[in-house]
Amino acid sequence: MIPFLDLGAATAELRAEIDEAMARVLDSGWYIGGGECERFEEDFAAYCGARHCVGVGNGLDALELSLRACEIGDGDEVIVASNTYIANWLAVTAVGATVVPVEPDPLTHNLDPALVEQAITPATRAIMPTHLYGQSADLDPLLALARKHGLRLIEDAAQAHGARYKGQRVGAHGDAVCWSFYPGKNLGALGDGGAVTTNDPELAAAIRRLGNYGSSRKYVNEVRGTNSRLDPLQAAVLGVKLRHLDAWNARRAAIARRYLAELPTERLILPVVPDFADPAWHLFVVTTPKRDRLQQQLADGGVQTLIHYPIPPHRQQAYADQAVATARLPVAERLAEEVLSLPIGPQLIEQEAARVIEAVRRVDHGAVA
Ligand SMILES: *Cc1c(COP(=O)(O)O)cnc(C)c1O
Repeated sequence: MIPFLDLGAATAELRAEIDEAMARVLDSGWYIGGGECERFEEDFAAYCGARHCVGVGNGLDALELSLRACEIGDGDEVIVASNTYIANWLAVTAVGATVVPVEPDPLTHNLDPALVEQAITPATRAIMPTHLYGQSADLDPLLALARKHGLRLIEDAAQAHGARYKGQRVGAHGDAVCWSFYPGKNLGALGDGGAVTTNDPELAAAIRRLGNYGSSRKYVNEVRGTNSRLDPLQAAVLGVKLRHLDAWNARRAAIARRYLAELPTERLILPVVPDFADPAWHLFVVTTPKRDRLQQQLADGGVQTLIHYPIPPHRQQAYADQAVATARLPVAERLAEEVLSLPIGPQLIEQEAARVIEAVRRVDHGAVA
């Protein structure tokens, strides 16, 4: 079986460097904060072209702490994508604000700025695009809308490490850019981890304080914060992996190029990459009305695939008691039934990519046709 993603192989490739980094932390006797965290924060900020990076416990916390640092809460509305992973919805509702879902462009799967503009009301406080599947949303029009209406732009970049927008890396466009280092991400830890990058020193300080018990001086608690910190072991591992991120993303891009050139297009819609985007290829997502049969046939042919995501957030039981549960979001609902993610990753070798293509070709001319 060709696995969807082989995390063991990723660790094995860097095993010596990871061992050395972890041993350094073990020997340091320092297990929360400290130099390892500071060094990774500096390196990742520099990588993103941002002035600040604040490590936090995970991607969901990065989103929630960013909203809290922007003082968004009760009575406020936040615009989110209807087809995103549920994390940014959960962050919005966790701070007491209301999600206002907007449908994506059905080809890029990212927020459509024209529809975002129509959704802005006097209660809107922020726009929260997700750079879905590792491809940047169209940031310039979203930034212009945010400026025009006095809104915050808080980006969910959990899938977009190394992705570029108009040649510039994602991570320094919006007020706060939120990252996850969940193991399967392009930059993944060996456990949970997250960060926020920003050019705003006040926002950076506020997020750091909120994630550290609301305290910027030990035992002095200025606000009611929480505990959400990136730990030094993960920071050390991430520092190692950051050095390989561009090379590993280039391997993903090579697979994506090959899929784009060789997968059959009669019955499959392949990813559409706008001129402004240089994706990190976190996922390679094809769309077909016969998705479930395609997935089954690929499994029979030895190719593991996943669905990102099978149930749109407004149809989740988690939101069954909210007004948004009955929202009409036909694009998100259709995409949930039609998207399929093919294997892609830095450790997927050329022969495996060729076998994936072969398996899709066989299916396409067979039962799915
Ligand atoms: C992974 C992911 C998150 C959340 O990450 P965690 O670190 O698991 O909390 C948020 N948004 C998107 C789009 C993601 O893919």
